[in-house]
Amino acid sequence: MTTRLNGIGMTSSRTRQRMIERLRAQGIRDEAVLAAMFEVPRHLFVDEALASRAYDDVSLPINYEQTISQPYIVARMIEVLRATNGRPIKRVLEIGTGCGYQAAVLAHLFPEVYSMERIQPLYERSRRQLRDLKLHNVTLRYADGSAGMPEAAPFDGIIMAAAAPTMMAALREQLAVGGRMVLPVGRLEQWLYLVERDEQGFRESKLEPVKFVPLLMGKA
Ligand code: SAH
Repeated sequence: MTTRLNGIGMTSSRTRQRMIERLRAQGIRDEAVLAAMFEVPRHLFVDEALASRAYDDVSLPINYEQTISQPYIVARMIEVLRATNGRPIKRVLEIGTGCGYQAAVLAHLFPEVYSMERIQPLYERSRRQLRDLKLHNVTLRYADGSAGMPEAAPFDGIIMAAAAPTMMAALREQLAVGGRMVLPVGRLEQWLYLVERDEQGFRESKLEPVKFVPLLMGKA
């Protein structure tokens, strides 16, 4: 009976637990991130035809030439964001909502989440999905995210889910002092960067090679 209700079993806690074990094996150590990723039903964020692969460590198409990020990179970016030595993170901005999966994970971890998407149907779908999951602490905006959201700034954290060709100077101005930004940078060769803001200014660290869809300008 359970098997039938769960289709091919992809919603079972065993399937989710396997994803969490894999993330651990890949080096993710932040238990709060792992717990949030166990909670969020990732299969609801992809088309039904792909649901059986939702918990595999792959990025999957979500239409409009966009993808849902692979679990490892979602976990890694949020883990880096949270490594603040105890400074609380209250308000977080995500650029590139896509299907809303990462926004849902963020919503389990932070009191206020803002997320921007430039493709209207993706924005609409994410809004419905997050509402269905009763994640009311996420504010979505249909807009070009490269200008950030000055009206909601400053942010304790900013995560970019699409790669800019160069460092985004405008966005980092929306970080609070003590705030952190995690972002992929580059075209063919991309690297994940951490930008930290303190009283003196900004400090950049280059973390690891990554592969993201490009940040595009303007609304689609
Ligand atoms: N966060 C998603 C990943 C989405 S892929 C997840 O949880 O899996 C990256 C998204 O960034 C795409 O949906 C793309 O449309 C969006 N994007 C690209 N450039 C953008 C821009 N300038 N402003 C807002 N969104 C942008």
